[in-house]
Amino acid sequence: MGTANPLREALQAGRFCYVVELVASRLTREARLLEVASQLARVPGVVAGSITSYAGGAMGHDPIRVGTAARARGLTPNVHLTCVNRDVAAAQRALEDLNALSIENVFALTGDYPKASGAQPEKPVFDLGSVQLVRMMAEMRERGAPFWIAAAVSPFKYTEADCLYQYLMLEKKFAAGADYAVTQLGYDARKFRELRAYLDERGIRKPVLGSVYVLAAKAAEKMSKGEPPGCWVAPGLLEKIREEAQAPDKGAAARLERAARMVAIVRGLGYAGAYLGGDHQAEHIRWIIKRSEALAGRWEEFAEELNYAPEQGYYRSEAAAAAPATRKKRGAIPAILDALGKALPVNRDTALRRLLARVFRRVDAHPAAAHALERLEYALKRPLFGCEACGNCVLGHMEYVCPQSCPKHLRNGPCGGTFQGRCEVLDQPCIWVGVYERAAAAGRLADLRTFIPPPDRKLTGTSSWVNYFLGRDNRPGNEHPLVTIRGAENAGRAAAPVSAGVERAAAGAPEQAGR
Ligand code: SF4
Repeated sequence: MGTANPLREALQAGRFCYVVELVASRLTREARLLEVASQLARVPGVVAGSITSYAGGAMGHDPIRVGTAARARGLTPNVHLTCVNRDVAAAQRALEDLNALSIENVFALTGDYPKASGAQPEKPVFDLGSVQLVRMMAEMRERGAPFWIAAAVSPFKYTEADCLYQYLMLEKKFAAGADYAVTQLGYDARKFRELRAYLDERGIRKPVLGSVYVLAAKAAEKMSKGEPPGCWVAPGLLEKIREEAQAPDKGAAARLERAARMVAIVRGLGYAGAYLGGDHQAEHIRWIIKRSEALAGRWEEFAEELNYAPEQGYYRSEAAAAAPATRKKRGAIPAILDALGKALPVNRDTALRRLLARVFRRVDAHPAAAHALERLEYALKRPLFGCEACGNCVLGHMEYVCPQSCPKHLRNGPCGGTFQGRCEVLDQPCIWVGVYERAAAAGRLADLRTFIPPPDRKLTGTSSWVNYFLGRDNRPGNEHPLVTIRGAENAGRAAAPVSAGVERAAAGAPEQAGR
């Protein structure tokens, strides 16, 4: 498969390796980044440079250009690709560009919600989520583009719903075609251990890189406030870092030592490698690698010490040992809709389904009737679910929670930005907590592993009932390829279409980053 790719080769051979994050932010001159890239290329064990895409929701350099230039300097790029302000067609174009440049390593991310700025469209476009982006790349791989796909996971979540949904999402990403995973940053060895144990229990053998972020005081202060979303530093660690910052070297030696110990921990726990962030200076990376090798035998001792977590945070092993949690009730609406679904079987070939299909075909033949039906559907669903008339209803696959009520319009689970069950964008509970709790109460958590395709945006503003019975919509059981074959766009239903408004936003708007 493909040409030399040290990252893929190390992971396939089970050789512990290092990937160093290069933050392509506007604050770093591009020339400086490339100088760093050529120095990193000479550090033994470093198999790739991971080029961020507008990390933290702020504009930066084009990661594809930086990745190509880094490769010219000898460093294999791992380019971050986010779903922010990219519709399905724009995501495909970006992947085609990467393939044309023979860039194999792509890190598929949903991305941080854009920070407000004059350059941003009012409401960012999120047509895809990371799971769907992985699926799209896997489709392109089937057509000959040799992508080696990374996906993100955060074990550093401290409520049951946040944490277990991350693990379910990782399973979905692997099932969709991801080759390996990279953890979010965190400073809690029990969580690193928990993720490994989860994958082992589920029989998942894919490699995972453990994130080791070299944490300086300024970043620690920001992260202690939850910035960027998904990155969190506990008060105990913040205090320690503030103390370390009083030293003449401003805490430099202490943070490099912590990073080396963390590398030893993730290696000891069976991670496939370390994803080094927060410092990309070649001499520091070289020191961390050497020091971690010298400390390798003491990893369990260090794991005991790396325990920065919120009080009474959720751990899967503790929850398994404790009495079963009392579940919230599912609520009246899900119960009524479940009962209706059983009484009126329309999700398989029944006489009722055939009758309704005939009725809806007739309605569809008359634009005024179709419009009236769409308005009726909207009037019923808006107050109950916050419906936005997407035309591709997946309420039945999401425990009757509308995906359009998620600010990123995700359909396969939460992004990595949640904190203690709260949304990264709006001051409200994450909608996926509701999905999880209802599924848990009904004993249907396994169903949350079902892949949900992106909506066909061409159907926005049409009745999802008509679309369902006429088999037009995009949903589990009625999926359409994500990749459009050039020249086939008008030859029937290919990939999800693009509305003019969305395309304008994608063309003019910057991307964002994150996990
Ligand atoms: S999934 Fe679409 S059709 Fe269903 S409630 Fe949400 S916006 Fe409406």
